[in-house]
Amino acid sequence: MEISKLKSLIDNSNKIYIASHINPDGDNLGCINAMYLALKKYGKDNVFLIEDDEIPDAQKFLPANKFMVRSEELENNADLFITLDCADVDRLASAKDLFNGAKHTVNIDHHSTNTRFADLNIVDENSPATGETLYEVLKNMNFELDKDIATSIYSAISSDTGSFKYDSTRKETFLIAAELMDYKINLNEIAVNLYQKRSLGKTKLLLKVMDTLELYEDNKLGIVVLTDEDIKSCNARKSDADGIVEFVRDISTVELAILLKEKTDCVRFSSRSKSYVDVTKIASKFGGGGHIRAAGATINSDLKTAKEDVLKYAIEELRR
Ligand code: 5GP
Ligand code: MN
Repeated sequence: MEISKLKSLIDNSNKIYIASHINPDGDNLGCINAMYLALKKYGKDNVFLIEDDEIPDAQKFLPANKFMVRSEELENNADLFITLDCADVDRLASAKDLFNGAKHTVNIDHHSTNTRFADLNIVDENSPATGETLYEVLKNMNFELDKDIATSIYSAISSDTGSFKYDSTRKETFLIAAELMDYKINLNEIAVNLYQKRSLGKTKLLLKVMDTLELYEDNKLGIVVLTDEDIKSCNARKSDADGIVEFVRDISTVELAILLKEKTDCVRFSSRSKSYVDVTKIASKFGGGGHIRAAGATINSDLKTAKEDVLKYAIEELRR
């Protein structure tokens, strides 16, 4: 039903825009790369891939990045706007106007906090990655894949499952990965790009931020803090903050890891849990969202207040 609706929307649209959320990660970049290439392969000529935020070093190898355009370069007259891995319309940031101006809109996602903001919403909350949902969507539409599309989807799935180790990983995830291998994807090249490309600047930033580590609740809660000044002084990029919170989570005693990023007018909250804390409960206190084991939010207060509030809610969840 949803699939035939999507197929007819694609068939009946001339100009198609594709975008995802700000602070892009492996899942959303893999998905928008794959969707762009799959639509092109299907024969749609007028497809535009929107990217308005910094692409992390780890995802620079994705094959369709080179076709990305900025929102300002596009007219506000798309026939169809497809978002992938985007939980709410505000996370589209500068692409939001183009989304609102499109004739038809589609939202393909796996966030449990997804707000169903499009005309057609294909949201599988049980899917560990939007990449997995997208694979099923493309397959059900009988779209042809190739090595570049398979590489993009595999990268998306690998990224959001922590290389198939999070408990969201299911039987279908492995079956899809196996099917993607039929397209002769290069697993080593993908793994080296995604996980073994940390720059010196990012490494320095990691060390600096880890130096701020504070532990609470029998060392079950780990919290670190980062400022824009840290990024500058380490000669790092904004996206180099990705992965630090996972580093905190991976400490043996830690169940709940939190990174607070101080911005000029707000604080960005990023959280991870290992086995039992539902971090969406904490993120939602600040109007954010995400997944049970990974969630984020923007907190509109100064760092001191944000930290006090976060610690209060975090300890509440840990003791639950
Ligand atoms: P991260 O901590 O890596 O920024 O985000 C972890 C997860 O939470 C991702 O799935 C991301 O999409 C989601 N997330 C991060 N920040 C926000 C936010 O401000 N609002 C919502 N709804 N989701 C977020
Ligand atoms: Mn995702």
